[in-house]
Amino acid sequence: MPATSRPDPTPLAGHHVLVTGGAGLIGSHLVDALIARGARVTCVDDFRSGTRANLARAAASGRLTVVERSVTDLEPVDADLVFNLACPASPTFYQRDPVGTIETCVLGAMRAFAIARSRGVPVVHTSTSEVYGDPEVHPQTEDYWGHVNPVGVRACYDEGKRCVEALAASHAQQHGQDIRIARIFNTYGPRMRSDDGRVVSNFIVQALAGRPLTLHGDGTQTRSFCYVGDTVAGLLALAAARPAPFAPVNLGNPEEVSMADLAKRVVALTASRSAIVVEGRPQDDPHRRRPDITRARERLGWSPTVPLDEGLRRTIDDFRGRSAMAA
Ligand code: UDP
Repeated sequence: MPATSRPDPTPLAGHHVLVTGGAGLIGSHLVDALIARGARVTCVDDFRSGTRANLARAAASGRLTVVERSVTDLEPVDADLVFNLACPASPTFYQRDPVGTIETCVLGAMRAFAIARSRGVPVVHTSTSEVYGDPEVHPQTEDYWGHVNPVGVRACYDEGKRCVEALAASHAQQHGQDIRIARIFNTYGPRMRSDDGRVVSNFIVQALAGRPLTLHGDGTQTRSFCYVGDTVAGLLALAAARPAPFAPVNLGNPEEVSMADLAKRVVALTASRSAIVVEGRPQDDPHRRRPDITRARERLGWSPTVPLDEGLRRTIDDFRGRSAMAA
């Protein structure tokens, strides 16, 4: 096993970093963190799910270039590090255009990997806990191969991401290319879209509006939510790791909650009077999900620091602030 490595706090000063999907939730917080560490950033995003508002802080630095285009049309950039995040990640968004999701995911990664390879620079590719599907192993270690319906409604995302992992592994085997794979578990935090469709934003928006929270099924299904700042710290640690971990790394918070519990927490934290109503479970909805993060702890020296209630408070404050500004 490679030696434990801790990220150098300033490895990025003066570097030029390409971030695809940099206007989204994780992408925009990553761009902010890179800029804060002295990097120059080129963000490529087609703003299908990301927003320009998310990049306002980074743009004020004068070290951000924004290129509005799909990652599938990515053009060479003289970057010395590439983060590939471009892909819709909410089931609501990725199921709206499943063919487009696969194209963005696979063709975009092909472009990003080719550009990095031609320049001989490392890539951090964002994969997902969805590669485990509806897991039969709990918690999920990186060695688990997953349980995915290859023709279901989630296949465009799950199999797209699995294909890209295979592509990355093939480049590593065939060309020795340095492609680092982060398997990101459910991430939430400030800047989530109100129409994102995922459970954290839905519940907060509903609770703040006094509308019923839409709980799918009996609410016993679980997820493990990671605060966006922690996820970004994990991505930076993965980029800084020496030697490169030629194996996927789970990035997530092992604090597991049921959706029924999450609904109650959001109602309590918003002091809302909203009721909780039960709706049908979506097809192929995973029953349980929790990362085993031993590899991230050992190889990256990374573990999450923000407990769920604290992260929810920050996210609720952000939604409140944005709706006050819009009013
Ligand atoms: N969910 C829910 N109410 C909602 C949205 C989602 O109960 O309004 C459930 C969903 O069925 C799933 C869990 O919350 O069991 C997480 O769903 P999400 O779409 O946030 O993420 P993913 O399924 O991709 O982990």
